[in-house]
Amino acid sequence: MIDGKQLFGHVLNDGQIKENELMAHHNTYGIGGPADIFLTPSTKDELVEILQISYREGVPVTLIGGGSNCLISDKGIRGITICTARMKPDMIITDTWLTAVGGVSTGAAARFAWKHGLTGLEWAVGIPGTLCGAVFMNANGYGGQMKQIVEKVYALTKDGQEDKVYDWDDLKYGESDSIFMHNGDIIYGVKLHLAEGDMEEIKAQMDKHQESRRTKQPLDKRSAGTMYLRPPGYHVGPMIKACGLIGFSIGDAQVSDKHPDFVVNNGNASCQDVLAVLHEVQRRIKEQFGVHVPLDVRLLGEGLKQER
Ligand SMILES: Cc1cc2nc3c(=O)[nH]c(=O)nc-3n(C[C@H](O)[C@H](O)[C@H](O)COP(=O)(O)OP(=O)(O)OC[C@H]3O[C@@H](n4cnc5c(N)ncnc54)[C@H](O)[C@@H]3O)c2cc1C
Repeated sequence: MIDGKQLFGHVLNDGQIKENELMAHHNTYGIGGPADIFLTPSTKDELVEILQISYREGVPVTLIGGGSNCLISDKGIRGITICTARMKPDMIITDTWLTAVGGVSTGAAARFAWKHGLTGLEWAVGIPGTLCGAVFMNANGYGGQMKQIVEKVYALTKDGQEDKVYDWDDLKYGESDSIFMHNGDIIYGVKLHLAEGDMEEIKAQMDKHQESRRTKQPLDKRSAGTMYLRPPGYHVGPMIKACGLIGFSIGDAQVSDKHPDFVVNNGNASCQDVLAVLHEVQRRIKEQFGVHVPLDVRLLGEGLKQER
């Protein structure tokens, strides 16, 4: 067993180092067993040191931001889990560029842009989690996508040795895909290019999207948002409906009756329950429509491998 305080006690204070920390407390699903060591750095320097130490000691590192797009193993996470959501947030605007570093939330960035009369992020208001997580996932909604507005991304290599600046061409963005899903670099900042807009129009758009989320999404239940990627030429929700899977449940994990792309946690769902629901949805759609619906949610922790 790793001794977190011994390894990281000279970098972080006691409150930033937790041992056997239940991951269910750190994601929107409320699911996940204990992380061996759970670290919440507050600065980039702390993050660099943690990465360097973990690499030197050969301890595996798992990263989470706001935990709003991940499903974490019931067995928890071995090694070090770093949460970037509590890193000191900072944002600046220069002309029509918004640069954000640390644990800035996506919603806060959208509202900051609006307050400075900048358009381009309205679609993102209401997306939970960190802006860096949204950059990683290429978060999208209401016709907008991160890849349309990202100009540069600031990231550390996972050994903490290199501080890199990615230009747009380097990001290899696809739908819900980015270079970071393949190279494991840790994003600590992003520069977005926005445009001058009318504050009232921006606000009206944001309100419209928020209202649409409230109406269409099961926001009264815990979830990780929509779970699937859309196979080209198909819409997942109508296929789930056609398969008669609305409300389908295993344990406390259930296909939402409000938005079929969500699998909600009705209280005590386990990771295994959610996975069983997801796999059944995939199986039935494959059977009825002959198409594979890949998973969008990120699977983290012991015994899980990312599935698509
Ligand atoms: C109610 C609800 C509504 C949602 N609506 C939308 C929506 O409209 N559109 C949409 O796209 N998503 C939506 N989501 C999903 C989710 O909010 C987004 O994907 C969000 O951007 C994830 O950010 P996060 O910080 O929570 O990432 P996490 O869930 O913490 O992490 C997701 C993945 O990103 C990696 N990661 C996180 N931060 C970093 C970093 N700094 N560097 C490198 N890797 C990192 C993690 O390792 C993990 O693999 C919704 C979720 C919920 C619960």
